[in-house]
Amino acid sequence: MQVFKFGGASLKDAAGVKNVASILQRYKDQSIVVVVSAMGKTTNALEAVVAAHAQQTGEAQNLYNALKEHHYAIMRDLFEDGDEVFATVNDTFVEGEWVIEEKPSENYDYMYDQIVCMGELVSSKIVTAYLNKVGLKTQWLDARDVVATDNTYREGWVNWDKTKANAQKVVAPMLEKGGFILTQGFIGSTSENFTTTLGREGSDYSAAIFSYCLDAEAMTIWKDVPGVLNADPRIFDNTIKLDRLSYREAIEMTYYGAQVIHPKTIKPLQNKNIPFFVKSFLDPSAPGTEISSDTDDNYPPIVVVEKNQALLHISTLDYSFVAEHHMARLFGKAADLRIFVNMMQNTAVSFTICVPNVPDRIEKFVKAVSDEFKVKVEQSLELITIRHYTEDTISSLKKGKVVLFEERIRNTMHMVVKNVPTIERKEVEIAGSKS
Ligand code: ADP
Ligand code: ASP
Ligand code: MG
Repeated sequence: MQVFKFGGASLKDAAGVKNVASILQRYKDQSIVVVVSAMGKTTNALEAVVAAHAQQTGEAQNLYNALKEHHYAIMRDLFEDGDEVFATVNDTFVEGEWVIEEKPSENYDYMYDQIVCMGELVSSKIVTAYLNKVGLKTQWLDARDVVATDNTYREGWVNWDKTKANAQKVVAPMLEKGGFILTQGFIGSTSENFTTTLGREGSDYSAAIFSYCLDAEAMTIWKDVPGVLNADPRIFDNTIKLDRLSYREAIEMTYYGAQVIHPKTIKPLQNKNIPFFVKSFLDPSAPGTEISSDTDDNYPPIVVVEKNQALLHISTLDYSFVAEHHMARLFGKAADLRIFVNMMQNTAVSFTICVPNVPDRIEKFVKAVSDEFKVKVEQSLELITIRHYTEDTISSLKKGKVVLFEERIRNTMHMVVKNVPTIERKEVEIAGSKS
């Protein structure tokens, strides 16, 4: 049994859905659980619906209607008039309408999940119907019957024991019937049956959850790139595809923001030693990247740029040392506010951390510790991580930039820099010399 995941880019229009069907055609005799995301940029559009509803701008329904129409237009390219899928998808959209018709909930994150899940629900219904139409027997599965989470809306934490038990109970009998099983990424359910989401871009993680719970032989995510590259091709020229990566290397890259894979994806796969492939949906027979434990350690420099970072310079008000109890308090507060620390450094009486720039959380943090600490916040920064750095790579990445903070630990180099226009970055040469 294998797990495949197709993301929004692969399902952005009718041609995309047809292409996914043609890829699956190659595997038609195999047992595959297919996880899909919402089509194209649907999740962003649904976020706009949630915001409009919360603020009662009067636009929520119009925005929702436009999104519905976009899906119907794709469906008209895939199905004949009168196909039952139109009624099925309409019934699903109606569930979102119920939320919009009610008064906005005081709990924004809860309301967000009840509306934003619609993207995955409708895309999975459309793709299932299309696969069946072209003769690929496919059963639709509601991921919420399997993926059990706590009630941290917008970032549900998986209850692994429950999810494993659900997978055995619900999915195993479906697998016995043969054909494909098609389900949604990104969504789960609380013990009270409210929908949760797992965090933006969380469908890769969903695929890993299914792989882990079903003991998959392998997992493949199908992307619009040839595999994992040594840098983001939207920022850099001259990227090179990595044929093989260790779990360790992949987890380091994704933790520091390589957007090709959701950072939570690797752990469940590593824990069961499940090989993980990143392949191109545009060139399905190409080998892509294999992520597994069995790899050599000869990597080229790998660059990850995480934008929109802030540096918090924290110092004690009374010149007392930044001792353990201070650190414990600062980290505890950061964790409570879900501020994730990417990098840190301290002197005798000060402490600097690099964190994602989420202004409302940072503001709360500054206030919460103001009795003992003074905090200076620097915004609009980038965190650049270079694995297997060479001096050439570092100096070319530094060109034209102000480096505010830098650190080297074994084969990893981090630097926090001030933003420079993408145009300059394009000229930077990062491929080439091996470390
Ligand atoms: P999905 O359709 O599955 O949601 P994403 O758009 O989230 O796919 O992820 C694929 C994109 O990630 C690529 O189009 C590429 O621009 C970007 N990307 C960023 N860093 C890397 C990298 N190191 N290797 C490959 N792609 C990367
Ligand atoms: N549709 C969700 C998002 O755009 C999940 C995903 O695509 O992975 O964030
Ligand atoms: Mg994505």
